[in-house]
Amino acid sequence: MPEVYNPQLGRKQSYPYEHRQEERDWHWGMVINTNRCINCNTCSFACKSTWTSGKGEEYMWWMNVETEPYGGYPMGWDMRLLDDLGPEETIFEAAEQGEKVKGYVAQKEEWEYPALGDDSVHGEYPEDEVVESDPEKGKYHDIWQFYLPRLCNHCKNPACLAACPRKAIYKRSEDGIVLLDQERCRGYRKCVKACPYHKPMYNPETGVSEKPVGCFPRIEEGNVPRCVSSCIGKTRLHGNINRGPNSGHPNGKKSAAKGRSPVNYLAQSDEKVALPLYPQFGTRPQVFYMPPYHVPPEFLTQMFTPNTDQKRNDWPGSTYEESVKIIQKRVRNPSHHLLGVLQLFGATTRLIETYTVKENKVKGWDRKGNKVVDMPIEEDLEVREGEKWTNQP
Ligand code: SF4
Ligand code: SF4
Repeated sequence: MPEVYNPQLGRKQSYPYEHRQEERDWHWGMVINTNRCINCNTCSFACKSTWTSGKGEEYMWWMNVETEPYGGYPMGWDMRLLDDLGPEETIFEAAEQGEKVKGYVAQKEEWEYPALGDDSVHGEYPEDEVVESDPEKGKYHDIWQFYLPRLCNHCKNPACLAACPRKAIYKRSEDGIVLLDQERCRGYRKCVKACPYHKPMYNPETGVSEKPVGCFPRIEEGNVPRCVSSCIGKTRLHGNINRGPNSGHPNGKKSAAKGRSPVNYLAQSDEKVALPLYPQFGTRPQVFYMPPYHVPPEFLTQMFTPNTDQKRNDWPGSTYEESVKIIQKRVRNPSHHLLGVLQLFGATTRLIETYTVKENKVKGWDRKGNKVVDMPIEEDLEVREGEKWTNQP
């Protein structure tokens, strides 16, 4: 197998195909702030009613929200695969003889309960005094949980694509969206087995597999996916993950801001606050999560970092766990710049290509260079003298 560089792991790994010479100018990417998610599942239903409401698609939730640490759809999808991987081994390196990827096909009963573990908490309710949480001093509540929205990551090393013997899965050159050609598919379910996030699913009515499409018709029109525009909690931001600090004006328009996209800032700047889910699988997922700041960092370290003893790339701390603590602190007490970027979440249904944060203003421009956001970062708080509560006796 060829060797390709994986920046999320800070090392080379094997992958069945060579990488293209240069990264695309535009690549689908998303950031989710888990601290804002309320598990309403509006995103899940928006996706389902748009894409998977047909026959044979009843169990297909391309977008689902799990309660960590006990939720999972299919059941136990992550633990099962992690247990099978050796230390510092990606799913490509762990593949058995004759296979390209290590994976497994979840059984029917594992798909039966999409909301299993919803709102279950970790830990016991204390019988004595309640421990006050003080993350600054490393003290966390004894009981905790958090919500994890899950979707296809439109990976840069897609396992679904690597495993398909029919070459029915391809990555679009214009935006990196990973699509499945149902005309070419013969229903061998290799992608279903290979995707470590379990997002390709088999349709027993048609006899072929299906996979999430990244809401590509909306992206082509310059809009964000349905799960983003419908999100009640304004948890999500979507855009061009490849637009770095040296990029030009969108569509050459001088009136728009030059430079990086807000999703690129959150995932790749020095103030990195958004992390990939289980990067140790080796698929280079392009959905990034701002970690919950009330959850013990040990748990988050195994979920959002390569989780090796030795920290090997551009993470902010000397170990991965220390890096997670630093990132939790950044999310809890955001800098002025980060606060500005956080205002862009849910601010518009247009896809924000570039942005600026200046003094108390954040502005955003779409792919055509049109201004789509212009708002204050913090508004003055005015406390007015009023009558007493009107519903008081
Ligand atoms: S998350 Fe799974 S289905 Fe989506 S691109 Fe990655 S490997 Fe393929
Ligand atoms: S719509 Fe937003 S807040 Fe509601 S579950 Fe989905 S990600 Fe969470």
